[in-house]
Amino acid sequence: MTRTTPPRPLDIEAHFPELAGHRGTTTRLHPRAGSPRVEDSSVGGPLLWPVDEPWPVCVQPHGRDKGRRLADIRRERELWAAARKRGVRAGLSDAERETLDELQRTYRVPGVSETDPVPMIGLAQLYRRDVPDLLPGPDGCDLLQVFWCPFDAHGRTGYESYLELRWRRSAEVGEVLTAPPLPDVVGYAGYVPEPCVLHPEQVITYPFAGLLPQDLCDRLDAWDEAREEEAEDEEGDGGAGAVGYQYDLSIPPGWRAGGYASWHLTDPYAMDCRTCAAPMELLLTIDSSEWDGGSGSWKPVEERDLPPHPFATPTQVVVGNHGELNVFACPADPAHPHRWSVQ
Ligand SMILES: [Zn+2]
Ligand SMILES: [Zn+2]
Repeated sequence: MTRTTPPRPLDIEAHFPELAGHRGTTTRLHPRAGSPRVEDSSVGGPLLWPVDEPWPVCVQPHGRDKGRRLADIRRERELWAAARKRGVRAGLSDAERETLDELQRTYRVPGVSETDPVPMIGLAQLYRRDVPDLLPGPDGCDLLQVFWCPFDAHGRTGYESYLELRWRRSAEVGEVLTAPPLPDVVGYAGYVPEPCVLHPEQVITYPFAGLLPQDLCDRLDAWDEAREEEAEDEEGDGGAGAVGYQYDLSIPPGWRAGGYASWHLTDPYAMDCRTCAAPMELLLTIDSSEWDGGSGSWKPVEERDLPPHPFATPTQVVVGNHGELNVFACPADPAHPHRWSVQ
């Protein structure tokens, strides 16, 4: 089944013709629960990884001996899914609550040092043939593979994610690794993706307002505010809210490739390549949810009648405070190291 973004509630270029010069495209990946194969683009699916190549590991110094078991996380999700099937209001039985307590336990793995290699989790793979807005890789590579360490324990703050991205030429892969190494425990369940197939859809997008020319940004902000006030006057509290530039007309929610990054949490800061100083471009957005409440204008037509829980969170991935993680690439040389920012 395809996923189709509804037409935007209004034509923003009719109100701000100069936005035409900033119009771009992004590909919403629309991950949905499924059974992807190694030859498919996927989130949480099996990766086309050569059997004779070492699987990526995290060797950054941090605790990795305490966390939850992968199998427990999956069983917990199955338990909730079964409960939902019966009807949410029914709640959990006493036996299920006991099981849940057991599944949520954390374990300590003895004898693990702060720098022992921990297998990273294969998060996603994207074939360029499937994803129109995926930036080119180095040297004719056509497959991007994304990994992350299952612990919030990196970066300057000591609480950040750590990703690794690999590009390869898919045609060169012979025998495929069928059972990749897995971490004994993970620091956080949000790092464990559910297997999802993708339904890529290219849509129009515009930059985050704060990155547009100041005058245009000011006028967009004023327009958003005026519409917000109008909507409040009409509906009182509890209304669906006004259609605004930031939430409905510029950057779609959910996993996507290319286009523009949102900076709603931190305000924009420079994202320049650490190797050559070129301003970097958005490669991939990893999002905690595919669409949200509010006006819900980005909710695919095919899912119009579905409630957000659990349908807006098919990957079960959670980044930041239920936010999004933007991965940037260097346009001068795609082999230069990536950077990322959480919003
Ligand atoms: Zn790590
Ligand atoms: Zn560079």
